[in-house]
Amino acid sequence: MSKLLMQLVEELNRGSLRVVDLTQPLSPDTPILPLPAQFNNTPKFRIWELSHYDARGPAWYWNAFETGEHTGTHFDAPIHWISGKDLPNNSVDRIPPSQFIGPACVIDIIAKVAGNPDYLVVPSDISQWEAQHGRIKPGSWLLLRTGWSRRGGADYINLKDDGPHTPGFAKESSELLAKERNILGVGVETVGTDAGQAATFNPPFPNHYLMHGSGKFGLAGLANLDQLPPTGAVVIAAPLKIVNGSGSPVRVIAIVSSS
Ligand code: MN
Repeated sequence: MSKLLMQLVEELNRGSLRVVDLTQPLSPDTPILPLPAQFNNTPKFRIWELSHYDARGPAWYWNAFETGEHTGTHFDAPIHWISGKDLPNNSVDRIPPSQFIGPACVIDIIAKVAGNPDYLVVPSDISQWEAQHGRIKPGSWLLLRTGWSRRGGADYINLKDDGPHTPGFAKESSELLAKERNILGVGVETVGTDAGQAATFNPPFPNHYLMHGSGKFGLAGLANLDQLPPTGAVVIAAPLKIVNGSGSPVRVIAIVSSS
């Protein structure tokens, strides 16, 4: 075993490195993104018991479940979007697994979102962050801290007469992050990696369009981003190996230094 791997295990055991769970609980109550009625909507997460140490299976408990690929804390693969449909290794089963691990850059826009739930990250937000923390390195996850994961019930989707109102990215920012920073992808606390109003943008859902068109990924429905430093955490997000899958629910964890 390499010294580095031994040290990793030792420091996790000792607590000088800590694992932060960035995942929301997955249940029938997990909120899902409502699309306009002319489009097919995703089913909610459904779970049913097969046996519970009873006549159906005397010594074992187990369930079956049904879910959309994009339900709860989940991974978006490039094939999810039309712009990424012809890229190599674009589905969850074909993404090289080394890409499931990457350093995190955490941008905090809580103050801006407090005054405007539709706030979009603009390139100056990114350059301000970089002035403080250094240039975003290729292969990083860009995690957007909005505080949104603390919202419960209807406030999470924040649906109004004209659709959901949740924060996201201006297309110029997605373009910059995908093409000039070559990040792994973006991760958000909201139900999807685009703003709630993004169906009305040009192009519609620009973050999906630009990220996935560049072979980048997405993580949606993250939690506990407040436990991550702006830099220095390592994120592990390995989706299920669904053949030709466009995404999957995922247990996202981060390793952070306790000191
Ligand atoms: Mn998704």
